[in-house]
Amino acid sequence: MGDKWCILIIQEVFWGINTFGGMLEATGVSRGVLSNRLKWLQSVDCLRKRDAGTGQRHPVYHLTRKSIDLYHSSLMAVVWEERYYPPPASGKVHLFHRNCSHNLVTRMRCGSCRQPVHGRDVSYHPGPGATRDARDKKVRRRSSLSAADVPSERSVYRNLINLVGDRWTANVIALAFHGLERFDEFHRELPVATNILSDRIRFLVKQGVFAARPYQQRPVRYAYTLTEKGWDMFPYFLSLLQWGDKWCDPAGNGRPMCLTHTLCGENLHGEVVCSHCGEELRAHHVDFTIGSVPVWVE
Ligand SMILES: [Zn+2]
Ligand SMILES: [Zn+2]
Repeated sequence: MGDKWCILIIQEVFWGINTFGGMLEATGVSRGVLSNRLKWLQSVDCLRKRDAGTGQRHPVYHLTRKSIDLYHSSLMAVVWEERYYPPPASGKVHLFHRNCSHNLVTRMRCGSCRQPVHGRDVSYHPGPGATRDARDKKVRRRSSLSAADVPSERSVYRNLINLVGDRWTANVIALAFHGLERFDEFHRELPVATNILSDRIRFLVKQGVFAARPYQQRPVRYAYTLTEKGWDMFPYFLSLLQWGDKWCDPAGNGRPMCLTHTLCGENLHGEVVCSHCGEELRAHHVDFTIGSVPVWVE
């Protein structure tokens, strides 16, 4: 899904920021980076540019069927961000479910047993589309963006994007969901230079996503385990994974990885639902405001 800017741009469009100028302000990126990412997002059918109607000067960017499907991950991002950080400068996101006329609190549940999804209740096995990807250890590409780049204060998910918008931090967190804990285990799976890997792990500890626990003295070695804050990112990751299974398999090989919900033993499909009425959420059924106090009455 490209880099953090691509995720950020798509997710801002969900909240009504759809002009070049609006995105520039919301994301805090340079004009060059923004126009480059917008071009790329159009080339992969995630955004469509349309000339604005009469009276409006600037073209607006629209989501496509493919990117509208990222709505659930966008909601899960908001849930996580609100749980662990104060609201951004632009204010809190208020959601309202039109179908049941209630202020919306979202959660993810298992589509089979309907219990809340937690990353600890999942087991993994290779799916039909699994490939042994030939990773070239010599590719030591330095990500052009440092993990500490802070997008605009206005962004609704700036903390989350800082954590997962970097390819290595995102990969390390995903491996931690699989139970990996030690530096060597992460390094075996990722074609990344050791200094970059330790930098990213340090960042995750500092952000409270990992807790470091010594498992050996002289020399001291640490195991890195997910904190509750780290585990709580799982629904967001799962929603992105489900999106990838649906949209990023043009050859039709099937999903590369299958997840089992250990509480019920069924394949795990996470559903993002309204916690009031239990209905699965669709973007066009949800109203929102950012910042100002909403006028809806519960
Ligand atoms: Zn289940
Ligand atoms: Zn509802």
